[in-house]
Amino acid sequence: MKGFRMPRRTGRMPRPLTQLLRGAALALVAACGTTYQLPDSGGVHTEEARRLFAEARREPARAPLSAGAAQARFNRVAPRVSAAGRQYCQRLTADRAGFNCNVDLAIDREMAERNAYFTYAETQPTIRISLPLIRDTASDDEVAFVLAHEYGHLIGRHIEKQQQQMLAGALLVGVLAGVATATAGDYDGHAVEVGLGVGAAAGSIAYSQAYELESDTLGTRITVSAGYDPVEGAKFFARPEPTRTAAGRYSFWGTHPPDEKRVATVLATKAEIDARIDLRPVQ
Ligand SMILES: [Zn+2]
Repeated sequence: MKGFRMPRRTGRMPRPLTQLLRGAALALVAACGTTYQLPDSGGVHTEEARRLFAEARREPARAPLSAGAAQARFNRVAPRVSAAGRQYCQRLTADRAGFNCNVDLAIDREMAERNAYFTYAETQPTIRISLPLIRDTASDDEVAFVLAHEYGHLIGRHIEKQQQQMLAGALLVGVLAGVATATAGDYDGHAVEVGLGVGAAAGSIAYSQAYELESDTLGTRITVSAGYDPVEGAKFFARPEPTRTAAGRYSFWGTHPPDEKRVATVLATKAEIDARIDLRPVQ
């Protein structure tokens, strides 16, 4: 990312620079949006989500499943979600040549925290769930919903989009840093490099809530098509839990804030499925 040179002029911003800024800003906006429309989660859905939250707060602490029962739950649920997720992914990405919907789905045996994630191992789409998370679930529906939500990150192309955002954000901040030094009459390559670092960090955390909600929307549809109940499943999130682990790291509830909007989004998507309203791309 060292592709541009700052002019040594002062005063009005030079034309190529404004074009560069506009280009970076447009790229940032384009990379940030969701691919699919989120359902309208207001009104009755928000009220119902509030009620579910209040109910979850009154429930007694969960007794963890044995490791054997957790493994059996994963063995029951994973093949069904995997088949439904692959099918749904293939339908939605039919126009994207070479899009890989064959996810490597397994338990992460190393992970001691309750967590689940989507990533790429080289180019292989990969979903992992930890045994402690499965041991903490109260139903097959909850494991199904967590796994289906992670398929949502694949179909929403959230990792690619976040990389584009980081790049565009870095470009924007880099250009601005360059402007500050260039207008002072002294172009400083180092300031631009520092700017690039700051932009990358800022871009990587922006708009993640929209992606979580999009994954919940896609995950709700995959959960239903796998034969599970997404509203039962979403109860896994609807619990008061600390956002950080004892080690100070973000917990699953830290990276997936259990706000009412998430549960309301699941309820609204379920209502759309019941009314036979299909997923709609953003225009
Ligand atoms: Zn997520």
